[in-house]
Amino acid sequence: MNDSKMSAWLNSLMACQACDLRHEGNLGPVRFSGDASSPLMFVGEGPGGVEDEYGVPLVGPSGKLLDKALWSVGLTRDHIYVTNIVKCRPKNNRTPTLEEGKRCANIHLVKEIELVQPKVIVCLGKVAFQYFYGRTASIMHNRGKWFEYEGIPVMPTYHPAFLLRQTGHELVESKWQVYYDFKAAAEKAKEAMPDFTFKSPEKPDLLATYAELQKSRHIQQ
Ligand code: SF4
Repeated sequence: MNDSKMSAWLNSLMACQACDLRHEGNLGPVRFSGDASSPLMFVGEGPGGVEDEYGVPLVGPSGKLLDKALWSVGLTRDHIYVTNIVKCRPKNNRTPTLEEGKRCANIHLVKEIELVQPKVIVCLGKVAFQYFYGRTASIMHNRGKWFEYEGIPVMPTYHPAFLLRQTGHELVESKWQVYYDFKAAAEKAKEAMPDFTFKSPEKPDLLATYAELQKSRHIQQ
């Protein structure tokens, strides 16, 4: 990963006004979290309220669940790269459309993939999976299977927000499915880069890590 190219891309992301999502009352584009030299990239849908506030993806309730699931397979957020298909928070936390996803990801996500060069990509939820594989790509039918994007193995699985909406037996089953999907993705990334450190001794406090970024987003408004 080239630091100056990453920094140039981040500058272009922060200045982006390429679509109407930028004007839906959010604090601006949300960047990535974690380590840009990681072989493991997780791609979610779009920012919610806490993510808009802090400027990084998956740090709200869904992010907490993600962190627990990652920990269970030997990963921590500081050693993986997490981003979203859509960078600006849609109004009222609605799910971004496939068209919005394509517009944003064709500008930014493709650049991130080029810069980070991940060895494994995990798609969290329908919006991410359909960006790569089209409108008919079903998470329900395909989660846990390996796909490929530009030679990179891609694993689709449930978004943590989906798990938060489940109860009872469905919740237990979905959690186990995500566990096995994450485990397979972690194993593939570890095979590709066995010397890379994937886990810190403790889960990082992401809200503390990105507290300065949160302040700067409000100052810029
Ligand atoms: S959603 Fe993406 S393309 Fe649209 S303004 Fe935000 S960063 Fe730019």
